[in-house]
Amino acid sequence: MTNKKPININSVEELTCINKFGTFFGVPQSVFDQVWQELSSPEKNSVAYVSMEIGADPDIFHPVQDFLKEEKYTKSIDPNIQKLLDKYLDGPRKIPNYSGGLGVLAGDTLKSFADTHIPVMAISLLYREGYFSQLVDSRVGQIDQATTWSPEATPTLFQLQDPEHPGQPLEITVHFFNEYDHPTEAKAHVWMKMEVSEELDYFVPEFLLDYSIPSSPPWVREAGLRLYNATSAIMKANQRRMLGSGILPLTEALGLTPNTIHLNEQHGVAVTLHLILRQLEKTLGKEYRNAMRDEDIITAAQEVAQHIVYTIHTPVKAGHDRFARSLYTGISHETCHHILNLLASDADSPHEYNFTAFAMRVNRAINSVSRLHRDVTRKQFPDVADKIKAITNGVHHLSWISETRAELFDNTEELAGWRDDPGVFAHMKLRDEQSFRKQLQQAWHRDNQALIEYINTMLLDHRTQMDTTWIDPPNYLSHRLPEESRLLPGVFTVGFARRFSTYKRADLIFDDIPALADILVKNNWRINFLFAGKAHPQDEPGKSVLKLILDNQEELHTRSNGLAQLIFIPGYDMRIAKMMVSGVHTWLNSPKRPLEASGTSGMKAAMNGVPNLSVMDGWWVEGYHEGATGWKFGYDGPLNADSLSEHPDTLLYAEDSQSFYRLLPKVLELFYERHDEYMQLAVNNLRLNVPIFNTHRMAAEYVSKYDLELPAETDARIKEFQKLYRSEPSDA
Ligand SMILES: *Cc1c(COP(=O)(O)O)cnc(C)c1O
Repeated sequence: MTNKKPININSVEELTCINKFGTFFGVPQSVFDQVWQELSSPEKNSVAYVSMEIGADPDIFHPVQDFLKEEKYTKSIDPNIQKLLDKYLDGPRKIPNYSGGLGVLAGDTLKSFADTHIPVMAISLLYREGYFSQLVDSRVGQIDQATTWSPEATPTLFQLQDPEHPGQPLEITVHFFNEYDHPTEAKAHVWMKMEVSEELDYFVPEFLLDYSIPSSPPWVREAGLRLYNATSAIMKANQRRMLGSGILPLTEALGLTPNTIHLNEQHGVAVTLHLILRQLEKTLGKEYRNAMRDEDIITAAQEVAQHIVYTIHTPVKAGHDRFARSLYTGISHETCHHILNLLASDADSPHEYNFTAFAMRVNRAINSVSRLHRDVTRKQFPDVADKIKAITNGVHHLSWISETRAELFDNTEELAGWRDDPGVFAHMKLRDEQSFRKQLQQAWHRDNQALIEYINTMLLDHRTQMDTTWIDPPNYLSHRLPEESRLLPGVFTVGFARRFSTYKRADLIFDDIPALADILVKNNWRINFLFAGKAHPQDEPGKSVLKLILDNQEELHTRSNGLAQLIFIPGYDMRIAKMMVSGVHTWLNSPKRPLEASGTSGMKAAMNGVPNLSVMDGWWVEGYHEGATGWKFGYDGPLNADSLSEHPDTLLYAEDSQSFYRLLPKVLELFYERHDEYMQLAVNNLRLNVPIFNTHRMAAEYVSKYDLELPAETDARIKEFQKLYRSEPSDA
């Protein structure tokens, strides 16, 4: 969706770049060299962003492919370049290296670092079986299917070569802390994906460690196959060790010199342990293992902390890594235990190591992902409460604004420059607001039509799939007569899509179906509810909630005399997310407050002007303006002893669903009877929420924690983005 010609690129050959690790494609050689030099500068002036998952599907943002298509670059005289080109033009292939919000946030963040020219490299794992693919059957619910994909065939993914042995893959050696007499070495290949800026003038490399190779021990190969493989505690622990222990060997093999390591969640915190050991060796000498006392460890940890920034993403206990200490007796040595006993202890649970607590204790800055989440995290970790600050999440506006809306913004004079600066929306003074509203309404309608068409095709496909597979169509409508098996565009459409997890309460609004149906029948209001999302394969309660959504379809249809349709879209991914957030009329979010630390899908809706209908949790506490940007419902009183519990008795289904039923008629009435006012909500979202909940602003807030020397022009731009908002109002 680029509409700008990237600077100084006149032929496709100019997009190839070479260094001693291989041949790459996507930016000019001069850009490649400049970025690589920044990341390997002896001045140490860059950041390594570490995340267990990174989601950046090319079908929603792919500036290189857009450029090739726009310029009609399909041929090269050089056969090698032609090979790369064919791969690119052959279509975007996804890298199934994410499961949900954490990964998508990581991808959006890296794209904004690229767009704003911040020297960052990302480090993650490459999972040859990715995250599972979801099939849904009306009788059994979610069916998990292995994902098959090929890194070799994926454009944008390049395997690094060994500089000493051209043509051979680079193989790095990673050491784990096992008992002294059983040292363990794992081997990994390295793949690089480039997050290229919209103007192809900067990039952020993502290095993905591929441990599932013949030279690694079988247990390492297995632990690297699937993202969040939780079939056993040891599998989980090993996957985390592979991420954290791989960081220093990787940067050293590539000659990269990050000064800060940003841990996106605690999964990679083993790197902290490695850094502490190195620091101890530096101060106490080779024999540090025998010499070290508790004070030495604390001093070393304080030194290491200067190089670590940590973002915590959830108050939900299952998201905090705890492992039995006994597990570590088998897989790490005495020196490590000594350090972990001091730094990873958990007063509530003396038999476990708490790696969230470890990450909390050793860092220069701790960030939560919204203001409310900061307050909750301070209560959960009182020892470090003062250090915990808010940097509210955002989304990459260029990825999430639909093409139809983007075209309108491009053609609106007052929004000139919105692609570079989402802050433009804050001061849009429209000469003709009436006409803008009208055009926005048309764009919205087109996105709604496209979404409804997608669903109608899906419903038909599901009908015929029964002939070839044993999957029973997940939607009740696919079981009715073909002419009844359709949704209508223009009908008020509610979207809900995110991971299925009990605290997110996807089924909240169906708690009292008669009450819900009554509202619709009384007023003869039509409504579509569209749901999507995956439950982690080991999350049985999450899967039951998904199944409940399917089980509610028929009753809702019958009781509402067919006015309400409830649809489940299988295989949620970023493409479906983009279609949904721009095609629905409101975005529903019904978690138990305060367990949704931020939530980002609602921001994606807001980017398109779509109002949110949400519990006062996460980002919505900051994005909600009464009567202006959307609606709130559910309990929003003070936190209490039950607030953090996920026990069924504490989930407030009755109270919060009744609150929703009181609100819904007001929303429907506004949509059907006073549509101009509804459109005003959309304009308000563009004006009030786009400038804040974008990753350019968020990245700029992170830069203030990174301690980087930036070129004057970059620095000035970052300062402008910082001015858009202060997640932490006291940080003047
Ligand atoms: C945005 C997104 C999410 C995260 O949604 P939340 O509202 O933050 O839970 C998960 N999955 C996909 C595919 C997304 O695009």
